[in-house]
Amino acid sequence: MSRIAVYPGSFDPITMGHVDIIQRISKNFDRVIVLVAQSSQKASLFAADERKRLVQETLGGLKNVDVDIFEGLTVDYVKKAGAQVIVRGLRAVVDFEYEMTMASIHQKIAPEIETMLVFARPEYYYISSRGVKELAMNGAPLKDFVPEAVIEPLKKKLGRK
Ligand code: ADP
Repeated sequence: MSRIAVYPGSFDPITMGHVDIIQRISKNFDRVIVLVAQSSQKASLFAADERKRLVQETLGGLKNVDVDIFEGLTVDYVKKAGAQVIVRGLRAVVDFEYEMTMASIHQKIAPEIETMLVFARPEYYYISSRGVKELAMNGAPLKDFVPEAVIEPLKKKLGRK
């Protein structure tokens, strides 16, 4: 049986923190699916297909990583994909409560699926998509925060003219 992990999130846009988690887990699973969440309730800067493209451009070199878009319950996607694990990244303590709540809900509705949390590396733990958008809006350098493929699209959306 091949071991497949799904890494779900908004990825609006993908940051160095996400890239690090994906690179690390791709070594521990046969296949990793980065699942870009499309939500009618959550406004995003980039459309789902743009977010997907930026992940693909960034991670094209990793042969066992795929990117997909999904609207609905993550566990439904996980079952359909024949995956066994949901991976989430953990930064500061503030992430903990939300992640524990989500993991508990998933445990309840799909006990066969395991949630695994991976700690952010210290040098990335302060990076968030929201923070990156704030930096872009104010013309700060972005190269230590987001992958190369994201810099221009982000400046185009938010940078000062
Ligand atoms: P969501 O909106 O679902 O939280 P995000 O795109 O913000 O989605 O994040 C997806 C996952 O990546 C989450 O588990 C989040 O905690 C994790 N993550 C975000 N930023 C980092 C980072 N800098 N280092 C490690 N994990 C991160």
